[in-house]
Amino acid sequence: IRVCTVGVEDLFAEILPIIENEALLYNVSVLIEKNHEAGVNVVADGELLKQVFLNLCKNAIEAMSDGGTLVLRTHQLNDEQKIVVEIEDTGVGMDDALIAQIFDPFFTTKENGTGLGLPICRQILTEIGGEIQVFSHETGSVFQVHLPLAY
Ligand code: ADP
Ligand code: MG
Repeated sequence: IRVCTVGVEDLFAEILPIIENEALLYNVSVLIEKNHEAGVNVVADGELLKQVFLNLCKNAIEAMSDGGTLVLRTHQLNDEQKIVVEIEDTGVGMDDALIAQIFDPFFTTKENGTGLGLPICRQILTEIGGEIQVFSHETGSVFQVHLPLAY
C-alpha cells in the first residue's frame, strides 16, 4: 500500500471513461455531483481506492438493467476528520437478508458473478483506514465510503 494525499475528483475523472462505457450498455446516465468547490483530498492509496470506486460503480450499473442513474458525490459529515463518498443507483435495491450476505466472499446473485467485489472493497478500506456502509430500498441503493480527510 502507498498511502498519500489523493484528490477524490481526480479519481472520479480517471474512472469516468470506464464507467461511461459500461453505463452505455445498460442505458444508465452517470452524474458526478460537485458539492465541494475546491475538491476533496483524502488519505489513501489512490490505485486501491480507484479499484473500490470501480467495483461499486460496476455493481451499481449492473443493478440497473432497465436503465437508471448512477450518482457519485462527496458528502461532509459532522465529523470534520472524515468525508463520505457516495455511489448511488436507481436499481433493483436489496432487502435486509441480501444485505447481510453481500460482503461474504463468493456470495453473488449474478450468473457470472465472482462475489469478490465487495469483500475486496471492504478489505482495501480496512487497510487504508476507511469504512463502507450500505443503505437500500426498493428503488435503489447507496454505498457510502468513509475516508480520512487530508488537509
Ligand atoms: P458480484 O458483483 O460478482 O456478484 P460483489 O461482491 O460485487 O460480487 O456483489 C455481491 C452481491 O451484492 C451482488 O451479486 C448483488 O446481489 C449485490 N449487490 C452489490 N451491489 C449492489 C447494488 N448496487 N444494487 C443491488 N445489489 C447489489
Ligand atoms: Mg461486483
